[in-house]
Amino acid sequence: MPKRTASLSVLPEKSPVLPLTRDDLWRAVLAEAELEVSRPNFHTWFRKTLLAGVEDGIAQVRVPNSFAKEWLEAKYRRFVLRVLRKYDAEVRDVAFMIGKAEEPAFPQERKDDQSSIAAPLPLKSSGQEPGLNPRYTFSSFVVGPSNELAHAAATAVVKQLGTLYNPLFIYGGVGLGKTHLLQAIGNHISRESPQRPHIRYISSERFTHDFVAALKTRTTDRFKDHYRLVDVLIIDDVQFIAGKERTQEELFHTFNELSGRGAQIVFSSDRPPYAIPGLADRLRSRFEGGMIADIQPPEFETRVAILQTKARERGLELRDEPAHLIARLVERNARELEGALNRVLSVGAVAERGDFDSGKIQEALRASLPPPHRMAFRDVVRAIAKFYDLREDELFEKSRRQEIVHPRQIAMYLLRDMLTMSYPAIGKRFRGLDHTTVMHACSRIKGELQSSSPIADEIAEIRNILRSTSV
Ligand code: ADP
Ligand code: MG
Repeated sequence: MPKRTASLSVLPEKSPVLPLTRDDLWRAVLAEAELEVSRPNFHTWFRKTLLAGVEDGIAQVRVPNSFAKEWLEAKYRRFVLRVLRKYDAEVRDVAFMIGKAEEPAFPQERKDDQSSIAAPLPLKSSGQEPGLNPRYTFSSFVVGPSNELAHAAATAVVKQLGTLYNPLFIYGGVGLGKTHLLQAIGNHISRESPQRPHIRYISSERFTHDFVAALKTRTTDRFKDHYRLVDVLIIDDVQFIAGKERTQEELFHTFNELSGRGAQIVFSSDRPPYAIPGLADRLRSRFEGGMIADIQPPEFETRVAILQTKARERGLELRDEPAHLIARLVERNARELEGALNRVLSVGAVAERGDFDSGKIQEALRASLPPPHRMAFRDVVRAIAKFYDLREDELFEKSRRQEIVHPRQIAMYLLRDMLTMSYPAIGKRFRGLDHTTVMHACSRIKGELQSSSPIADEIAEIRNILRSTSV
């Protein structure tokens, strides 16, 4: 484990700002990298790197293997240098060195009293918390077997803040009502609680964004106060924090501070904690330390009730028959039910007085169902380009540069593997390459996959991109 407290030796003597430690400096780079590059890219190239030191103006960055070294040098050297120089003008160059591939643990927080220079943000003691939408309440939430556990947990939490279930972790697929429930918790507390607790509702993306912004402007103390001086912290879609180590570290400390004070914390996620890839173990165990409740897709009766509730919110009475018809055609989630209701209303298939035309309803919904997706050559090429930060046409260039050759070989491998294209057919698509060249590429990747090289991670991430873009 490297020492994490040494200050940079290259800081100017009379630095007007507080000197950044080596780790803080690298944290700033990583935090910006998380915003700059795609998540899979960050995961593959920047994770497991650290700043070993700065000597004679040369920042020495430790990377886990030669593969990462090549890639960082070829693709991210300028970016890394630019960010380093932003924080430390003395850095002139950057060198990537292969070091022991260790997982940097979260460094301890700096106990630096001088750094508490920024004044805490004034906290509101009343009024509507900005992120809360008053429409999302418990009373507008339809309870059925698919969501009754999460609903029961949410309603119990607001009665015994911080003591009953802490944290409350609600997970489920898209459009199943997680945001609605989390907001209902916030709205209920804000309206009903006599103590007027400070509530903060935020998406994890916003949390990440604000944290990175605070690092940039050196206002992390303000940031900390903003999140740590509250009584109820609600973080929506916490899965987006996956792989973002700096932000996870910050959340971890925020969590500890809040729960130590008995403040209530609520999370939502699209999957349970154990299934969030790239989540630090200690954060995972915090997520799992309270109550975990899932939400499943709604059953038929719940779908019918959701449709009728949504119609009523618009001052319409939706009779059972058209509601049953829509609920049979639209099964996946509440958001799609709302969309279906909108379409049905917009084509006049259900009239104000409740009259309806079932043929029109079916037509309206059939036309808008997405066509079944077929993965195509183009999707694979697009996913590869995205992952390797290349333009699509670069993959087809006659180039022997490693940063083109490697993605191209992966592309060939995946085209064969996922689309079962023949070697000659693949070759033809790549400027008429000979089929033996394609064969060679595919078997090379296959061989590397077996020797457990980082290629396995890359391919897994690319498959993820493909899956997530092909729904
Ligand atoms: P998620 O955050 O899980 O993706 P949302 O909470 O945004 O889903 O829900 C999508 C839409 O469906 C919202 O308009 C919400 O009000 C509605 N909705 C979801 N579940 C229910 C429910 N059980 N009762 C009423 N409306 C619901
Ligand atoms: Mg949501």
